[in-house]
Amino acid sequence: MDYENEKTFQFVIVGGGIAGVTCVEQLSSQMLSADVALITAGSHIKTVTNYKQVSKTLEEFEVEERAPSVLQERFPNLTVIHSAVKSLNTQSRTIITADGRVLGYKKLCICSGSRPKLLAQDNPYVLWIRDTDSAQAFQKRLSKAKRIVVVGNGGIALELVYEVEGCEVIWAVKDKAIGNTFFDAGAAQFFIPSLEADKPEKAAPCKRPRYTTEEPAAGASQTFTADRNSLALGSAPTEPGSALGPDWHEGIILRGAELVSHRVSVEYECEVAKIFTNEELLTSPQQTLCPENVGTWPVYIQLTNGKTFGCDFIVSATGVVPNTEPFLHGNNFALADDAGLQVNDQMMTSEPDVYAAGDVCTACWEHSPLWQQMRLWTQARQMGWYAGRCMAVHVLSEPIELEFCFELFSHITKFFNYKVVLLGKFNGQGLGPDHELLVRCTKDQEYVKVVLSGGKMVGAVLIGETDLEETFENLILNQMDLTPYGEELLNPNIDIEDYFD
Ligand code: FAD
Repeated sequence: MDYENEKTFQFVIVGGGIAGVTCVEQLSSQMLSADVALITAGSHIKTVTNYKQVSKTLEEFEVEERAPSVLQERFPNLTVIHSAVKSLNTQSRTIITADGRVLGYKKLCICSGSRPKLLAQDNPYVLWIRDTDSAQAFQKRLSKAKRIVVVGNGGIALELVYEVEGCEVIWAVKDKAIGNTFFDAGAAQFFIPSLEADKPEKAAPCKRPRYTTEEPAAGASQTFTADRNSLALGSAPTEPGSALGPDWHEGIILRGAELVSHRVSVEYECEVAKIFTNEELLTSPQQTLCPENVGTWPVYIQLTNGKTFGCDFIVSATGVVPNTEPFLHGNNFALADDAGLQVNDQMMTSEPDVYAAGDVCTACWEHSPLWQQMRLWTQARQMGWYAGRCMAVHVLSEPIELEFCFELFSHITKFFNYKVVLLGKFNGQGLGPDHELLVRCTKDQEYVKVVLSGGKMVGAVLIGETDLEETFENLILNQMDLTPYGEELLNPNIDIEDYFD
């Protein structure tokens, strides 16, 4: 089919999540007269609010879903196109959208995020949580559920099992301990009592929910409605909205049909062997069930540890896959092992004038020894910001150096109502056996772990109100030899801040 370009923009950014929106903001404020287009499949965009630089590399912020017009009001040269990209031709530098537009670009940044890895395609009993719509679909199904099985051991599973009340949760993890992506077995042990205890009363709900549930404005494309229906049915997400982020569960009541507060049991070191319905169970008499599973559960899950559980539905929380699909056909993108678009230290993919940022890309430059990529909100913002800068300076032919935020991995979050700060090689990632751990733990209060390599601090996990993040960040950044201090480093009676002042 022959298409004619509707318009060629100087910069086109695909994706209205945190990476894409931050990239647009950065570009548009750096190059006020530039012609910028944002193409996004979701009906809302994500914006960062209340941004706070906590220390040199740690940052905290909130996220709001907004109508795209908010961005257009700030940047008059910005055009927002509400449609999904269907295909890309990097030779002719054109993009075709689902609603039939053909757009040209001089420089393109792909920020299309990622989508959940699903345990089963098109199974109405397998749900996932990715965006506002899927979170609401989950909430609705949960309100009638007595038992669910959560599969996965990353951040989403961790938050879910803690937040869900009034419903028995069976949590299947493939590792020996919970939360393997974020911490070690010791920290996991620290958290286990929180799963067994009743949850503390929630603080008053925030005045304005971070995730709005407004209907799309009149004239918005079909994507939202179609997406919403498909999510409600639990089929594979096609054109997703932006991924959720910090505090996604705030303002959503995650309560099942029972009166219990918490009832979580963990099945360790297992994966899913088979998922089958009640009808399939009746026709396979060889299936053995423990007594509490016999009955009329709508779906059954068999784990590789030999156990089979009946439940109302299964939550697939086993990670994400970069959303690269519409961009690959006919082009020559180099892909990383995790299927992300490879980007260099200037956020450029292997195709000329095509950049990428956020969950869709894989950072393939030589990393600082204290940084690693994790598909997190903070990194989506940092990459979007940096990609915007790179695109602008490349037009101006100016040099640019890798941003300081890529020097040290740092992340603040909350698990089980505890503040969690992760710094550097917090889990000894890539260090082999050649490292030492110092741990301090006060039950129900704090867990502090320091990773030392060659006498220098290279990572830390801080759980609870430890107030150690800034000092430890400095110690990691300045790579001071800490051998003379030994275990005194974690002596609670020493004011470590004064010590290193
Ligand atoms: P996204 O936010 O996914 O945005 C992608 C955008 O691209 C969307 O606007 C989408 O509509 C658009 N798009 C996709 N395909 C197309 C197409 N073909 N054409 C046009 N537009 C398209 N991170 C944290 O740091 N802390 C947390 O506590 C945390 N919790 C999370 C909880 C949940 C339930 C989930 C799912 C994720 C969580 N994350 C968290 C991860 C975080 O949300 C993501 O890393 C981050 O949102 C990635 O941002 P992004 O801009 O790259 O992608």
